Amino acid sequence: MSASTIEYVFLPPQIPSVEIAGTRQRFPVHRIYCVGRNYAEHVREMGSDAKEPPVFFTKPADAIVPSAAAIPYPPRTENLHHEVELVVAIGSAGRNIAAREAHGHIFGYAVGNDLTRRDLQGASKKKGLPWDTGKAFDASAPIASIRPASLGHVERGRIWLTVNGEIRQQSDVSEMIWGVPEIIAELSTLFELKAGDLIYTGTPAGVGPLEPGDRIECGVEGLETLRTSIIPGIRTGPTVANAPK
Ligand code: MN
Repeated sequence: MSASTIEYVFLPPQIPSVEIAGTRQRFPVHRIYCVGRNYAEHVREMGSDAKEPPVFFTKPADAIVPSAAAIPYPPRTENLHHEVELVVAIGSAGRNIAAREAHGHIFGYAVGNDLTRRDLQGASKKKGLPWDTGKAFDASAPIASIRPASLGHVERGRIWLTVNGEIRQQSDVSEMIWGVPEIIAELSTLFELKAGDLIYTGTPAGVGPLEPGDRIECGVEGLETLRTSIIPGIRTGPTVANAPK
């Protein structure tokens, strides 16, 4: 072993990656950013003021789940929600990216589902606490294959979600409060965007609960449909709050 080789105390985990449509190459994920409150009707259904600007939060890169996966119902929630979203995959780094330059930083687009433990998110909101337990849990970021932007940018088109074949969410990508270029412009003033970043761009109205046994399909016109299912969760032991004394 050469002197320059890093010796880790254990094998580092593999870099999470997403399938790219039409190629065997994969998209290595750096970070996952998410936009909240980006469709006016969804802002209203969540009881917020539609004039409030969208917000950002994050998920860990290893929260991604590929299409066709069976996702165990997550622990510590009784209200797991679906949120279909257009996902933007960043292909080149930048800070303070102007909206008119944003397309040049996009590698491609995919369909994602911003899975949410709505009860935990609601409790956090009420107390003014961070959203991590409600949003950034294991397997909370299903995503289908990425379509390269060389085949065209996604600026409009139907966005929809079905549960067991029944339509639950339906809108058009053009209904976003902040369009993709504005999201990239705003986000890149807060963080240096890097190749490998994914941005979940917000969900339209119609979010609702999922149960074990549900089959979920998420779509954006022109992109690969994301198909997943929910299976019974792994039972967890008593929580600190209700553990026997
Ligand atoms: Mn969302």
